[in-house]
Amino acid sequence: QNSLLSATGTTIFTIMSALALEHGAINLGQGFPDYDGPEDVIEAAAAALKDGRNQYPPLTGVPELRQAVSAHNRRFYGIEADPNAEVVVTSGATEAITACLMAVLNPGDECVLIEPLYDTYLPVVKLLGAVPKLVRLSPPKWELPRAELAAAFGPKTKAILFNTPMNPTGKVFTAAELAFIADLIAKHDCYAICDEVYEHLTFDGWKHIPLMTLPGMRERCMRIGSAGKTFSLTGWKVGYITCDRSLAPNVAKAHQNLTFTTAPNLQRGVAVGLMKDDDYFAGLSSGLQARRDRLAKGLAEIGFGVLPTQGSYFITTDFRPLGFNGDDVAFCRALTEEAKVTAIPVTAFYASADAPSHYARFAFCKGEAVIDEALARMRNWV
Ligand code: PMP
Ligand code: GLN
Repeated sequence: QNSLLSATGTTIFTIMSALALEHGAINLGQGFPDYDGPEDVIEAAAAALKDGRNQYPPLTGVPELRQAVSAHNRRFYGIEADPNAEVVVTSGATEAITACLMAVLNPGDECVLIEPLYDTYLPVVKLLGAVPKLVRLSPPKWELPRAELAAAFGPKTKAILFNTPMNPTGKVFTAAELAFIADLIAKHDCYAICDEVYEHLTFDGWKHIPLMTLPGMRERCMRIGSAGKTFSLTGWKVGYITCDRSLAPNVAKAHQNLTFTTAPNLQRGVAVGLMKDDDYFAGLSSGLQARRDRLAKGLAEIGFGVLPTQGSYFITTDFRPLGFNGDDVAFCRALTEEAKVTAIPVTAFYASADAPSHYARFAFCKGEAVIDEALARMRNWV
């Protein structure tokens, strides 16, 4: 057996969702909406399914979707990307992350990662024989420690992989932080893998800025989006990578060896989605902002320390004010078993045991009645 894989635990999202099911808990753990995505997107996929569009699509994605990804890049960010040479469609952002890492990393190369980090990053970097260099944001403000980040880059750095808007912190990287990262990338002549799956889920006027739009970054960034988040269809697993034509052939070869292609009918649905009008995208974030506010207010009333969320599906809370005696894993287990509400322990997003262990992450991509019921259960429990 591969020792790196046997040392990798089952993902926390699967563990907590199973525990929620076992205890009849409301699942505010794993980040998936309890409402469906846009009807026209689903209809377009269903029509393609019935239309006999069911055989292998082109390796890099169906033309309609590559064109839609390109148009979306131009509309929202002014990024010009050739749909025939600079877009690769993958089976979810999860595959996209692996494909981008495979495209640039050789064994022994260093890859900078920012903690807390999404749970697939570290195992994949290690599987490729690359060396992770971890830099930690410190709560509650999750500021970028600039000196530490600079020190993590060196002659062996090949790439940085990071996520904005960020899971689980809800942080949106500022223009100044991105400029700092861009300088390091240029100085060390390396690449960035930009996990931007929550690009449209920002609140309070926060705007997502792709690192790719900064000077000198167009050729160095692999920008990743996900239909799961942008269309509330997390089970579809359709992701898309935008990158320079010099990188795309290697990204495509990685995709060729991972999955080769992605369900063509779903791709056609996502193409319709990316062409939706601006109101759709504005409504997506304003709808989620209202859910965030509802959950944040209720959690604060119960006594949680509620950290600000600028983007994503998630609120991070400090549960110490509740007087709970135990770490985040114990807290999330007790909350599931006793209060019948499930959250995710934030230590799952850290590589080592010295992580802060007093935070629990709640997902707010849920119906209002579900949020209210979860809050009522927790109110009765504390
Ligand atoms: N990156 C981050 C930060 C995520 O939260 C997720 C969760 N869905 C993914 C990547 C994976 O996205 P997908 O479902 O499209 O594979
Ligand atoms: N991205 C989702 C989350 O953070 C979960 C995805 C998964 O279950 N792997 O909750």
